[in-house]
Amino acid sequence: MFDHEDHRELAKRLDLFHFEEVAPGMVFWHPRGWAVYRRLEEIVRRRSQRELFEEVRTPQLLRRAVWEESGHWQHFKEGMFALLDGAEDAAVKPVSCPGHAHLVRRRAPGYRALPIRIFELGLVHRDEPSGALQGLLRLRQFTQDDGHVFCRPEQAEAELLRFLSGVAPFYQAFGFEKVRFALSLRPESRAGAEAAWDWAEGVLSKVLDGLGHGFSVQPGGGAFYGPKVEVVLSDRLGREWQCGTIQLDVVPERFGLEYVEADGSRKPPVMLHQALFGSLERFIAMVLEQHGARLPAWLSPEAVVLLPIGPEAAGQVSRWAADLRDQGVAAAVDAREESLSRRIAEAHDRGVSEVWVVGPAELAAGMVSRRRAGASEVRPFAELAPELIERCRPPAVVYG
Ligand SMILES: [Zn+2]
Repeated sequence: MFDHEDHRELAKRLDLFHFEEVAPGMVFWHPRGWAVYRRLEEIVRRRSQRELFEEVRTPQLLRRAVWEESGHWQHFKEGMFALLDGAEDAAVKPVSCPGHAHLVRRRAPGYRALPIRIFELGLVHRDEPSGALQGLLRLRQFTQDDGHVFCRPEQAEAELLRFLSGVAPFYQAFGFEKVRFALSLRPESRAGAEAAWDWAEGVLSKVLDGLGHGFSVQPGGGAFYGPKVEVVLSDRLGREWQCGTIQLDVVPERFGLEYVEADGSRKPPVMLHQALFGSLERFIAMVLEQHGARLPAWLSPEAVVLLPIGPEAAGQVSRWAADLRDQGVAAAVDAREESLSRRIAEAHDRGVSEVWVVGPAELAAGMVSRRRAGASEVRPFAELAPELIERCRPPAVVYG
């Protein structure tokens, strides 16, 4: 049996974030936790760039007309923070889709401009009942890696394949070995023509069949605007987490979207909604519960801590730490006037796997004494540093 620590307990022990009654379901990120968050952000930005997405940012507060157009006012009113903006009804965005649709609508693209791929690290708010809140797993304010593709119908298959063929290696790099797909079909309450649903469900099953990983079918599980594929991860305790998703929108015309065909006619494009992390915050909870305090070096908020003994060592150690940080290593220095044994114990408690001690003898030889549970080895800094830099680089596969 694995020992298992709830991500909220870990957050306390590792000093990552906290919650307060004054802002239920919203995170107070501490510097160490924010460092982990920023790593995910960096990964999603670089991956999106490689997949030819352009990053955008759209308004946080939008008036009622937008939410009526998207269907959220009718289907999701209870889940939104609605308020009066002057005399006008408005709501804080629970998703970024309408904002992205407005961007594309203004462009009125020609067929040659398609596919258009845009994404946003979208800060969204959802009015969850306080009883449903559960650490980072269920929040009222969180960030979606929200991507939308606008394309011609015949391009949809390639877009789905691009997304779905890359997801398993991506999650495996974070330590989630078992990945499965679920296809969610038309729900009872839905928008759009039956023929459009037939087409969309057909395209999704065809692509999933072609991938050859197998998939389950969830009748009635789709969104009101289209069927979707959900990517479900298993953690080391065997718990399943629905994570990435891609949806094929069958009613993009509700956003007034059009593109100009080769013959000059105007048609609605196909709209795909995709997210790899889903919620960055929730993904961090999953990663914490999967790895405990021992995060992979490239995700760790503190990959190495250098402990100097004496003022001369302190100067050298600060320079080494700065060099390591320049190379992308989360390196910290603990030069407090605490006993060495106490500083080592605290570092191990914080889950730091590399604890490097530098006393006068090591300093003179350009060495560090590397402390592990009950053992130590003395090695040249010049030899250890490149090894650590390498381990702090995210695996190439996360960038796609
Ligand atoms: Zn969307």
